[in-house]
Amino acid sequence: MKKKMWDTDRQPVLHYLFHQAPVLFMVLDRQGIIRQVNRFGSRLLGSDTAGKPFQEILIDFHHTFGLDHVTACSDTVHLLDFDIQSGNAQTYHCLFYSFRDQILVFGHLDLDEIESLSSELLAVNQELNNLTRELNRKNRELARANEKILALSRTDHLTGLANRAYLSERIGQMISLAVRKSRPLSLIMTDIDKFKTINDTYGHDAGDRVLQGFACLMKTSTRTEDLVARFGGEEFIILLPLTDICEAHAYAERIRLALPQKNLLQNGHPIFASFGVSQLLPNEDSAGLIKRADMALYRAKTSGRNRTVTATGSDAHPSDHLSDSQRQP
Ligand code: GH3
Ligand code: MG
Ligand code: MG
Repeated sequence: MKKKMWDTDRQPVLHYLFHQAPVLFMVLDRQGIIRQVNRFGSRLLGSDTAGKPFQEILIDFHHTFGLDHVTACSDTVHLLDFDIQSGNAQTYHCLFYSFRDQILVFGHLDLDEIESLSSELLAVNQELNNLTRELNRKNRELARANEKILALSRTDHLTGLANRAYLSERIGQMISLAVRKSRPLSLIMTDIDKFKTINDTYGHDAGDRVLQGFACLMKTSTRTEDLVARFGGEEFIILLPLTDICEAHAYAERIRLALPQKNLLQNGHPIFASFGVSQLLPNEDSAGLIKRADMALYRAKTSGRNRTVTATGSDAHPSDHLSDSQRQP
């Protein structure tokens, strides 16, 4: 005799059970054949589940005994665990109700298992978040430390200006840019006058303070795009992009005239410096540009010091004033 199907639309509870409830719900006949499956069950087991023997959807056939026991009983509630071929490899606890000539099967996931699993996952997730945060913090620290190391490797420790190594790195870039854009690039070389006498008279520490004060004056007298570098001892180089020789000469003069006003020795004894200025010539390299400024500086020294001399193209010719190896940045 064909079993009467449950009319799932007549009662709200049945409607909920068949169409919305997030539990597995099936109706079996006494032979263990699945007669009806709710929407959740169809999604879990496939839309062709109705009509199959319940045993077919079980993975663990040891429970067949249990099922026989259930189908044989009447008016009893049984709770058995079955591994159902649900595709998600999870065990559903199935609750069997004997109901007249039918058996109702309610299946749900092991909630305790889900809870402990999810709390474990939460803990792992939290741990991962902590580790990620820590890693990000360490990476930021490392990036800051690397920046510091890089800045230190480019800086002269006494004056805080760019050192010679960084000057040689930047001068090449500035020359390439000037050539590519057909823009002027000028260079000032300066050297404190009679600095040895200052050291000898007021001491090395006083000499250091003069170097620091002079560095500060140059830094504050130039633009951010300029590069002020300590070339060695009491010699400095200022690179001036987008600046022709006349403007560079004016820069140098401004610094030269300001220097003695600074009272760097704090005893009224003025400090003076000499300046040589050059502008990049076509096809000139960094060594040539520096050499011509150096030649001009030499002329400033030999013609009385405390002055600015502009280099000419003829300064490009070799001179016995300085050897090339001395003047490479
Ligand atoms: P000139 O006018 O011809 O440039 O004469 P000068 O005395 O300035 O030149 P000289 O090359 O004879 O002397 C430079 C001195 O600078 C000698 C050296 O001891 C000193 N000097 C170099 N580096 C430092 C430094 O870091 N601190 C101090 N205090 N002195 C330094
Ligand atoms: Mg000097
Ligand atoms: Mg010198």
